[in-house]
Amino acid sequence: MKLLEAGNITKTYRIGEVDIHALQGVSVTIEAGEFIAIMGPSGSGKSTLMHLLGFLDTPDSGTFRLMEKETLNLKEEEYAFLRNRVIGFVFQQFNLMSRSTALENVCLPLLYSADRTKDLERSREMLGRVGLAERVEHRPNELSGGQQQRVAIARALVNKPLMILADEPTGNLDSKSGKEILDIFKELHLRGMTVVLVTHDENVGNLAERVIRMHDGKIVSDERRSGGGKKEVSAVDLPRLQTFTKVKKYNAEEFLEHFKQAWRMIASNKLRSFLSMLGVLIGVACVITMLALGRGAKESITESLSRLGSNLLSVRPGSVKVHGVEGLAATRLDFEDVKAIQEIPYVKKVAPQVTGQGQLVYGNKNWSTQVIGVTPDYASVRNQEPVSGRFFTAGENQTRQRLVLIGQTVQRELFGSEDPIGQTIKINRVSFQVLGVLPSLGANAFHDQDDVVVIPLMTAMRRLLGKDYVDQIDAEISDLKEMPLAEEAINALIIRRHHLTPDRYDSFNIRNYADIQQALSSTTKTFSVLLGCVAAISLVVGGIGIMNIMLVSVKERTREIGLRKAIGATPRDILLQFLVEAVVVTFIGGLAGIVLAAAISWIIAALAHWQMIITLGSLFLAFFCSASVGILFGLWPAKQAAGLDPITALRYE
Ligand code: ADP
Ligand code: MG
Repeated sequence: MKLLEAGNITKTYRIGEVDIHALQGVSVTIEAGEFIAIMGPSGSGKSTLMHLLGFLDTPDSGTFRLMEKETLNLKEEEYAFLRNRVIGFVFQQFNLMSRSTALENVCLPLLYSADRTKDLERSREMLGRVGLAERVEHRPNELSGGQQQRVAIARALVNKPLMILADEPTGNLDSKSGKEILDIFKELHLRGMTVVLVTHDENVGNLAERVIRMHDGKIVSDERRSGGGKKEVSAVDLPRLQTFTKVKKYNAEEFLEHFKQAWRMIASNKLRSFLSMLGVLIGVACVITMLALGRGAKESITESLSRLGSNLLSVRPGSVKVHGVEGLAATRLDFEDVKAIQEIPYVKKVAPQVTGQGQLVYGNKNWSTQVIGVTPDYASVRNQEPVSGRFFTAGENQTRQRLVLIGQTVQRELFGSEDPIGQTIKINRVSFQVLGVLPSLGANAFHDQDDVVVIPLMTAMRRLLGKDYVDQIDAEISDLKEMPLAEEAINALIIRRHHLTPDRYDSFNIRNYADIQQALSSTTKTFSVLLGCVAAISLVVGGIGIMNIMLVSVKERTREIGLRKAIGATPRDILLQFLVEAVVVTFIGGLAGIVLAAAISWIIAALAHWQMIITLGSLFLAFFCSASVGILFGLWPAKQAAGLDPITALRYE
């Protein structure tokens, strides 16, 4: 039965201006079960012919049939199928994967066949058949040349091909190993395998039952000798040749294999991999830190506002700009204003206050801080009930007692671990008795809100700061819904009481804390945008790093890619392999980025006292970023690899 039929095929290589006619009208028919030796001087076109017979290359002209079926101009996937299932190719240079064991090397073609399951038993059996049962776990560098070639033969056999092609299989071996290899081929032939060998060795020629001699790209003789002994021809599996394409099915096993390969690549190039991951690492760290910062800021703003009480309005004198000169005509607020505001129905409590700077002295310690004079209502309006000691009373305020409540920073700076209650401190050289300690308000990004002392309003105005007006009036509104109404009413009231003309409406202002929240979060937003830019740039740079390492990896492994294609990998298989590799690299970079971000967040939280919150969502986003960088920038190198031509790739040095 005719297996392969080549009719009048030509192949011409062009090097610069010179055409090399490697094959000039070669016709050959291979019958099932034959043992053919192709002989001839070097450069006569033997390898070129073998590559065509093995579907590793296509002729320029002529006819080519496999089992009566035309096989010129097939799709790349169809050639991959033929290389995988119909032909077993054995190379002079063995072409084993150096980082894989003998068994893994033999399994490789199975990865690319239709069912894609790694049949370890069959691979073992094949290794046993070539006499390597004891060496399955050895890597190529732990095997002799003859043993390596036997692994290559087992690999060629594992998918039960119709035909074995071997291009000078003994060319790199000593004569003893060479003879052993030839015995294997003879044995295969006796079991019914069709074998085509290229050789220089006349003894091999004697073994074969048909010898084809080539010279200058032509067949000069084709002698048949009667086949020695009886032999059974293996049944040709016709159904599987009905279509040349394999079932497109990707399973977990293939991915696992790719992951393993990727891991080996990274592990054997640690420094290089690390450097190329660096960009992704920084990018991901920035993304997470940015989100943690934004989230933390939002949380702490909301928290400090809820401590302040969000249904709070603060009236303050503003400054009018008259001809560009500031501060000419601020409206001064006085006790009459306080009383009037108290009368407004929506207002629950009013807390006027004055502020100033104070130089504190206790023992030999000095501390400069903000002094606020308040009425007792301040404690409830601003949620500042003392954590220890007590607040002063209305009576103590009226009688201008020299009493003080201190913030936590002041306590730490002046008293350390000492109990401050009942101690006497000097504020601007006036003695005050410490009455209590205020609860912590925490620090926001702008200042330490616990660096403060609170004294009775009247004491502050008359004894310490010498003011006869107040700096701020806080009004607590009974219901959040009434805030706009209350704001409107207070506004009207101040205008009326101070006889303000429209050009002086901005000589006071009313702040509500929702506005402050907005202002604060817009600041952190700016910061987040900044970090976001750094993240984006790093991710792009990181992506280029990934692309670079992948291109290097593709170049370095050109021969491996050639081999994979020669044993049946489709362009998609190769594409997938390199994409998985790129994604694994970026994922590891991303993971390291997460760790780095956690560390940075921790340090920022510890040093700047900013709240940092890393959420699950931001971790997902980080993974998404690194995966998409991997795919985006890995795609091009992977495409390059997938498009390689098997023979050119195998010849690559
Ligand atoms: P053999 O295997 O019989 O030694 P080849 O088939 O390898 O010969 O080569 C036949 C001719 O084609 C030689 O002259 C060789 O230089 C040329 N040749 C083979 N492959 C290429 C190639 N990829 N590019 C250019 N010339 C080539
Ligand atoms: Mg050759």
